[in-house]
Amino acid sequence: MNVLIIGGGVIALSVARELKKRGIKRVTILEKGALGREASFAAAGMLAPNAESNGTGRFYEFCAASNRLFPALADELLEETGVNIELDLTGTLFVGATDEDEAEIDERYSVQKNAGINVARLTGREVRELEKNVSGDIRKGLLYPDDGQVENRKLVAALRSSAELNNIIIRENKCVERLIIEDGVITGAVSREEVFYADRVIVATGAWAELIPTDGKWAAFSLRPVRGQMIGFEAGDFSFSHVIYSPRGYIVPRADRHVIAGATMEDAGFKAEVTPEGIDLVKKAACEIAPVLRTAIMNESWAGLRPFVSDGLPVIGEFPGYKNAFIATGHFRNGILLSPITGKVLADLVLTGKTEIDITAFRLERFSAATAGQN
Ligand SMILES: Cc1cc2nc3c(=O)[nH]c(=O)nc-3n(C[C@H](O)[C@H](O)[C@H](O)COP(=O)(O)OP(=O)(O)OC[C@H]3O[C@@H](n4cnc5c(N)ncnc54)[C@H](O)[C@@H]3O)c2cc1C
Repeated sequence: MNVLIIGGGVIALSVARELKKRGIKRVTILEKGALGREASFAAAGMLAPNAESNGTGRFYEFCAASNRLFPALADELLEETGVNIELDLTGTLFVGATDEDEAEIDERYSVQKNAGINVARLTGREVRELEKNVSGDIRKGLLYPDDGQVENRKLVAALRSSAELNNIIIRENKCVERLIIEDGVITGAVSREEVFYADRVIVATGAWAELIPTDGKWAAFSLRPVRGQMIGFEAGDFSFSHVIYSPRGYIVPRADRHVIAGATMEDAGFKAEVTPEGIDLVKKAACEIAPVLRTAIMNESWAGLRPFVSDGLPVIGEFPGYKNAFIATGHFRNGILLSPITGKVLADLVLTGKTEIDITAFRLERFSAATAGQN
């Protein structure tokens, strides 16, 4: 079988790897720019199914299941490619310094605890016992022991290296302009210079929606970019051992002790650029969590585009109405976390036409007029 994957982010790379592992002979990735340089590069790499949850439900279970795949994935990638993706499951903190923050923490704790999420409540002093460099103003916190992070740029590098070692064909600077549709069957894709035919086609183009043939059928479906600006601080005379969120931002300490901080949530079209206001906002939130960062050297800033679908959930499954075509996008704030499970689902669908993982909530069909009418 010959499979074509359009888009070259963490989702496409994860799907390609899983397909190859399961014996697909020819897998080709077409990427309009450089592999893994859009959202997958810009991300913070947090694995936060619990810290980002507002209760349980299908999306939570999907995220938690994907989180559980990371230890084996990290070991496999290290053995296969020599790249350490720096998986760290030390846990994530959520901290608050104001009356409103305390109310938010209480609310989160009660909703999440009732839903069976593994979360512990901490006093300000207990937070500082875990992280001596957080602000003395922190009054309360939550600890999510099952959450953590990976170095997402290393994850992308490892997946690329794995793809190269396993003869996955990577074509960069190949912008797909349209899909080839013959009698309701998607048989390939066309770039400006070349035509690519395949037995199966997967669209994994992140925030770019042009290739999704909605045919006016999925009225409520829309996919748009939500910009996030981030900054990085050089390693200094400080260290942190957890990812630390507040209601206004987060800091993520990397293995080499440099710290990154994020992120804005902006409707800015396809402008993946930083702005002075965005950087100020992110820096302020980071310094509020950890005042030591005020004197740290900020040596990097960047922005990326999260793929956001109108109901906030990813779109994963077959293209309804067409044969041999699949879609995997809309991973919004959780695409790094969801990359391993998305790879498995897509490989199941391509190889067997079904998957044991329940993706009903993520199929494009949820936007059909009939379904929308029922909800
Ligand atoms: C600031 C920020 C922080 C984030 N933090 C986290 C986090 O901590 N944890 C987490 O889990 N997630 C996080 N995310 C979300 C995560 O980065 C995304 O959900 C994930 O990277 C999406 O992966 P993707 O492969 O779908 O998209 P992308 O990485 O954007 O890849 C899509 C690719 O498709 C290519 N493409 C588009 N159109 C075409 C075409 N016509 N032809 C060929 N190629 C095309 C693009 O060039 C791009 O490379 C963050 C995102 C941002 C922006």
